[in-house]
Order: sequence, then C-alpha cells, then structure tokens
Amino acid sequence: GMPAAPPPVLAPRRKTRQFKVGSVGVGSDSPISVQSMTTTKTYDIGSTLQQIAELTASGCDIVRVACPTDKDAEALPIIARQSQIPVIADIHFQPKYVFQAIEAGCGAVRVNPGNIRKFDNQVKEIAAAAKDHGTSIRIGVNAGSLDPRLLEKYGKATPEALVESAVWEASLFEEHGFNDFKISVKHNDPVIMVEAYRQLAAAGDWPLHLGVTEAGPAFQGTIKSATAFGALLSEGIGDTIRVSLSAPPVEEVKVGSQILESLNLRPRKLDIVSCPSCGRAQVDVWELAENVSKGLEGMKVPLRVAVMGCVVNGPGEAREADLGVASGNGKGQIFVKGEVIKTVPEEDIVQTLIDEANRIAREMEER
Ligand code: SF4
Repeated sequence: GMPAAPPPVLAPRRKTRQFKVGSVGVGSDSPISVQSMTTTKTYDIGSTLQQIAELTASGCDIVRVACPTDKDAEALPIIARQSQIPVIADIHFQPKYVFQAIEAGCGAVRVNPGNIRKFDNQVKEIAAAAKDHGTSIRIGVNAGSLDPRLLEKYGKATPEALVESAVWEASLFEEHGFNDFKISVKHNDPVIMVEAYRQLAAAGDWPLHLGVTEAGPAFQGTIKSATAFGALLSEGIGDTIRVSLSAPPVEEVKVGSQILESLNLRPRKLDIVSCPSCGRAQVDVWELAENVSKGLEGMKVPLRVAVMGCVVNGPGEAREADLGVASGNGKGQIFVKGEVIKTVPEEDIVQTLIDEANRIAREMEER
C-alpha cells in the first residue's frame, strides 16, 4: 500500500550545516538525537560501559562521559571502542585530554569556551587533530562558566553574553577551516535559555545542542526542559537535545524521547491515552493507567492504548486507539481497532490489555 503520510510537525527544521558524531548525523538533514551523560567514574570502565549499555537500551543516541583526570582520559580508548553509541568526552580545562580523546576514537569532544581562551594557541592543533581523526566538537557555553570578560561587559549571563561567547568560540575554529561542530548556550532559566538559542539560531547555521543546565530534580527538570525545548523545537530550532536531571541518566533519555515523540519529531511508540478520572469513573483509572503503562514499558512498535474510566468518552477514545478499555460497572469493554473483542471483569483488564498489546506488537513486527 501507500506509505502513510508523516505526522504533522509544528515548524520545518531550521536549515543547518551537517556533521557527524561517530555514526550519528547531526544537523537539519538528520533526525534530532537524544543525548545523556554517564554518572559513573569514567575510569571505572566496567561501570561506565554498563551504564552506557542501559542508556543505549533506553533509546539514547549519543553519550557523554566526563574526563577530569588522567585516569579518565586513559579509559577513553576502551570506552569509545566498546560503547554501542558514539561517545563524547567532556573536557573542561586540560587541552592534553582533548588530544587523548581525539586519538581514543571518541565521536566528539566537548570543550568549554570559558576555559578555551587559556589554550587559544592550541585551537589550531585541536582542529587539525580532530579533522585527521574525523572527530567533531561541541562548543559548550554555560552560564556558570562564562568568560569573565563577557560577564564584566554584560553584568551577568544574559542571552547576548552567551551568544557573543558562542559566536566568538565558533570563529576560533572556523578560522582554521574547522566546521564540524555544534554549539550549546545553556542557562538554568528557560526564558534566558530560549532567548539565547533564538539569537544564536539567527546568527549562523551551526547545528544546535539544546539544554537547560542544572534544571533540577526530575519533576522540575522535566518541566523546565520540556517547556524550553518545546518553545524552540516548535520554531524548528534544535538538532540534538540533552535533558539534565538530578536523577539517573536513563530518566533523562526517557524524558528527551518523550519530548520529541510529543512533537512528532520522533516516531511515537507507546502512547497511553488515559483519562484523568472524575466523579463518573467506575474503576480506579490512575492505577489502571499506571499498571498498563508499566506493563508495556519498552514497547518497540507504535501503539496507542486508551484507558478510560467510564462510558462518556470511553468508547469513543477506545475506538480511536489501536487498543483500549472503556470501563463501567466493575467490567471493562476491550476494544481492538474499533471493535469490542470482549468484556472482562475489572481485575482482568490490565492483563488482557497487556496480552492484546503484545499480540498486536508481534503482528506488526512480522509484517
Ligand atoms: Fe470522567 Fe469518564 Fe471522562 Fe474518565 S472518561 S474523565 S471517568 S467522564
């Protein structure tokens, strides 16, 4: 049959240059990628690779590892070789680690412009080594480590200050003919962050890495990131994203993926359409939705599952979904592709939905 039309998006992607982080394309010709960062000691190779494997399984496209010491730099060759996804070495102060990361086969190196000044004369050599090895760069401007010269000029980390820093750092690489880099201008305030990225997007065609820095614990950080990324992505701005949470990195990947899925920027997988419940509900909708959601976590095919508390909107939503339940009077009508296939007692609703979902998923995968 005809391939289905792609789902609508809020804006066309902003056109950017293209480059690669290892095997992953970054820029407007590539899908928006999701990144995270390990929390293990990088020199603890086993734990780091274990966490990278978990991140990979949760849908992470690119992983960053901190590189603060010699021991960490020495671990990079094994980590870069054994990781299933491209590795970015995060380096703040020591240029020698940049060269080690490039030689180790890292997909990219993140450098902090607040510090790169100190090794101005080495930018040319970094650019040459990176070019030789096919390594890319992230210029990571961060409100917390802004160039003191710019802090003085602007009084604080304003959008203009972040952008001036970024544009200047970009020019340091570009004057050596090196263009394979993306830029981030992170701030912990979503309003300043959004404004900075808008200005940076208007100033050049660099691919942009979105991030709200130090966004906070899971709940606050999720909302700060989702609102800020949502504002920018709805204008077509953003080529790769990292949600920063004071929580396990797998959570960052889940949130990042869900933000992209919500905006149709990545194919939706499991989509639970569940009602908030109200005085009409005849079953415990929250528990039902939670249990179905848990039971179907990691679903690899797109599947819309409706979990509805009563017969008001229940049958309508359940029919629109691939699969659903409309509950009432201690029973649940189970719908598949718009047809009631059976009515089960309340205590069997969750298991029936999970069984049916897995059956539909198997059929989809066989096709
Ligand atoms: Fe209330 Fe029924 Fe709507 Fe759920 S589906 S919110 S129970 S009216």
